[in-house]
Amino acid sequence: MKLPDYIIQVAQHAAGEEPTGNADARTMAALREYDHEHDEFDCASDGERLIVSVAQHAAGLSGKDIDGRMGPTTEAAVRAYVAKHLGGTTATRPAFHTRMAVYRAPGANAAPGLLKDGIDLRDPSMIVPDGGLAEIPTRKTMKGVYGDADALGKEAMQARLATLTGLPGRFNKGDGVLHGVHRLAGPHLRLALELCARFGVIDEIYRIGTYNHRHMRHDPSMPLSFHAYGVGLDVNPRENFAWVPGASEKQVAPFSDAWRQKYPRGVSEALVLCFKKAGYGWGGDWPGFRDPMHFELVR
Ligand SMILES: [Zn+2]
Repeated sequence: MKLPDYIIQVAQHAAGEEPTGNADARTMAALREYDHEHDEFDCASDGERLIVSVAQHAAGLSGKDIDGRMGPTTEAAVRAYVAKHLGGTTATRPAFHTRMAVYRAPGANAAPGLLKDGIDLRDPSMIVPDGGLAEIPTRKTMKGVYGDADALGKEAMQARLATLTGLPGRFNKGDGVLHGVHRLAGPHLRLALELCARFGVIDEIYRIGTYNHRHMRHDPSMPLSFHAYGVGLDVNPRENFAWVPGASEKQVAPFSDAWRQKYPRGVSEALVLCFKKAGYGWGGDWPGFRDPMHFELVR
């Protein structure tokens, strides 16, 4: 990326990250989270456009001025932000997780048992929740079950979404509410979170992102993502950022030592197993594109 460091630093600072000027995977995950948290703008693309959009929003620009492109207006506003917030110091806002008093780092829950109340998380068979799907659709059958987002369009898909209330956990606003979940996915998500509570890992979760009308990997040439169906969700995105392993990194298996070094505050194995038990697939299992924040109700 050829953006000036200070643009990246402003975006990082606004998103509660250390302003290193290096647009690494963790930074990009934090910026996407910032995008999701702010309704005033929605940056469909990744990379430079997202960085500049966040910097523009943080610098007080609005409306059409948040276009993800550098220009004199952006330059002036961002320079003013630097002078005010970053002048001669690298002080940062506390990261999002430290602002969440309830958040406990994974490890506080070190090695919770995987067998409890007759439920064995290592057993790969799924529990079907009341009102849930007896069988989880595959990539081939999912459009027939959930609706075809490409054909139906945004509004028709939104009509299939529900809001869940009374969920265990203190994520997002801490009120046990999740918007933007496909009606058919609701019972499965509730079960996943109830299992997390039962197995003592629910407080790992401080953020869940659900419905989002966007393309896979934020790339408009890719199909719509499962987030556009309300059947995909992201847990603590910035602690579980996605990455493409190079040839020498293909061996980095989930929850190995190298994995834990990469994701020191990443989701625990017990948490992943709770979601799998409720029918979810996990993006951390994809060897060519590790996406450990991501769960989807697709086989
Ligand atoms: Zn996702």
